[in-house]
Amino acid sequence: MTKPPRVCILYTGGTIGMKRTPNGYAPAPGFLGEQMATLTEFVSPALPPYEIIEFDPLLDSSNMTPADWLKIAHAVAAHDDEYTGFVVIHGTDTMAYTASALAFLLGGLSKPVILTGSQIPLCEVRNDAVENLITALLIAGNDPVPEVCLYFGGKLLRGCRAVKVNASGLSAFDSPNYPPLGIAGIDVVMNWSAISPPPAIEGRVTVENAASPLVGVLKLFPGIAPWMAENFLRPPLRGAVLEAYGVGSGPDHDDRLIQAFADASRQGIVIVSITQCRQGMVKLDSYATGSNLAKAGVISGMDMTTEAALTKLFYLFGMGFSTEKVKEQIAANLRGELTPARPAWVK
Ligand code: ASP
Repeated sequence: MTKPPRVCILYTGGTIGMKRTPNGYAPAPGFLGEQMATLTEFVSPALPPYEIIEFDPLLDSSNMTPADWLKIAHAVAAHDDEYTGFVVIHGTDTMAYTASALAFLLGGLSKPVILTGSQIPLCEVRNDAVENLITALLIAGNDPVPEVCLYFGGKLLRGCRAVKVNASGLSAFDSPNYPPLGIAGIDVVMNWSAISPPPAIEGRVTVENAASPLVGVLKLFPGIAPWMAENFLRPPLRGAVLEAYGVGSGPDHDDRLIQAFADASRQGIVIVSITQCRQGMVKLDSYATGSNLAKAGVISGMDMTTEAALTKLFYLFGMGFSTEKVKEQIAANLRGELTPARPAWVK
């Protein structure tokens, strides 16, 4: 028998619930819940029943760390039995990182976990908070999307494909390499063919206790000095996302720079190349400038976002995998974060 809808709001912070202070907007404990209790939209019987779990401290998401990703993942797992869906209220600045991390950290997810927030706080008369939160609650209560998603500005996106694309516009997120999972217009239209199927065996959601976030991001730019790469690509670093040009090109006329990548790979540092372009896929063998990076040990991150590639490395090393296993899993499509060259059924 299907359970009646009931949504758990995990309130972690962000602009949506902030208050004006002399230093600008800042999180204020209890303030979001107090406002919601007075607004007719949030007490409407058309909404699924919901409860708010407020995190302490509430954070501007610029202060989020991997420990906070784990705290959210554990809260989902702890309350999994009680609810039909979760809404994670979160600041927009690092929301795509948290959405990607949760996608990897939560195993066997059979219900929606939807991150949302707003660019303008709920306390302002003109805001995007009401629409974002109401629609996220409705989807979490009514649509059995077994994925970590991000709802913002009328679009339901796969969490591990989402990126923040606008610092000031209200349509602040997109998933350039994957279609939206749903669009909210007059009706909320779900794109079921783009949504992952539920786990084959329904059980409790699991949390991978990923520790030691010894991963980072290096962006290539014209004139990057080898010493910059050398200083970054050294133990205890275990994994690096390399934001390369186009389909994965990088400067290969600088032997010392290429040597820095080769030395790092030899020391077991996994270097994953993704594109600096908004859309498209890394293909290291297209140009000599990509092949030479591949010869130095750089591997393709296909069409993953920086956020997905970084949190995937964090998750894989957290699982305790060997360097070889991490490299193998980077190429695998674990949560819909990348577009495989061939679907799994093509032998
Ligand atoms: N700085 C805020 C945060 O990420 C921005 C926002 O929520 O829109 O928490």
